[in-house]
Amino acid sequence: MKWISKNDHTFLIAGPCSAESEEQLDTTVKALSELTNVNLIRAGIWKPRTKPNSFEGMGKVALPWLVNAGKKYNLPVGTEVANAQHVEEALAADVDVLWIGARTTVNPFAVQEIADSLRGVDIPIMIKNPVNPDLQLWIGSLERIAQAGLTKIAAIHRGFSFYGDSIYRNLPQWEIPIEFMRLMPEIPLICDPSHISGRRYSIAHVSQRALDLNFNGLMIETHTDPDNAMSDAKQQVTPSSLQGIMDGLRVRESSTTDPNFHQKLEELRNQIDALDADILSKLMNRLALSNDIGQYKLEHKVSILNLERWDRIMKDRTKLGSELGLRPEFIEKIMQMIHKESIKIQNQVMNRSLLDESIDD
Ligand code: PEP
Ligand code: MN
Repeated sequence: MKWISKNDHTFLIAGPCSAESEEQLDTTVKALSELTNVNLIRAGIWKPRTKPNSFEGMGKVALPWLVNAGKKYNLPVGTEVANAQHVEEALAADVDVLWIGARTTVNPFAVQEIADSLRGVDIPIMIKNPVNPDLQLWIGSLERIAQAGLTKIAAIHRGFSFYGDSIYRNLPQWEIPIEFMRLMPEIPLICDPSHISGRRYSIAHVSQRALDLNFNGLMIETHTDPDNAMSDAKQQVTPSSLQGIMDGLRVRESSTTDPNFHQKLEELRNQIDALDADILSKLMNRLALSNDIGQYKLEHKVSILNLERWDRIMKDRTKLGSELGLRPEFIEKIMQMIHKESIKIQNQVMNRSLLDESIDD
């Protein structure tokens, strides 16, 4: 089978959230095999669900349904494993690819158990990010699997849990997969827009974002009758909608050989480098003033926080930013970070004797 490479940008994994019946898998895999460029079929056999008494997957009876549909339509198949028994049953059934789900990646005991059960078996494996935004935990899971001797390892970005409202089911926090790519440059990275979006209509734009960030492919949940799916009904798309999404994506190169492009890009990047140096030296000047203010407040026995001043700064800077064409949310974030650093510096000046670095944040 073709495995994901760092040169791919459209490795496509599709299939239902859950295996539901033999017929469902047969019709879904048939429809997907008729689409151009589906590389791997997915289907959950054991489903980690938030609440008890939800549908928790068909279990091992569904393994031959998946494997047989894959063989019949000539596509490799993959499923999620969460413990050594799942691994044993999936391997015995001849599943081609395994993946570790987000609720399992958080647990080093579970990941180690899976790694130990795979020692000596070089099956392709994909590791989803943990539900919490902990990059090192994600990387640690990959290391556990690599140390067991597996060599065909890929990662899947499926977003991060949070409390509150959002247009997303799981926040993409793109800076985390970008940092993943920087730290793990050899590991192919797939985006799962279905679990990030949680609903059909945003799958296309999340997928486009992933392609524009040089991800190596997509995992998109696909069901022949999504509204009646036994899990994740809102986010699954039909095979023909999947085709529509794929046809609408613009695949851009991560670079070009055009020398003019490189020359112009170089010029623009030089300007950015110079501006960054400017911003940093201005930040330094600003924080030096915070230091002086701390000294002055100390001498006059005045406390650090002045809410009126802070409120005025926020209002003024967001207004100034808007006039310059900068988004208020962006300015708010920057000003909050600068203010936090300024308070920290004043605290260092004013409370030197009490300072305990370990609690200073
Ligand atoms: C899934 O892929 O169906 C799944 C359970 O996803 P996650 O582990 O990302 O929640
Ligand atoms: Mn799902």
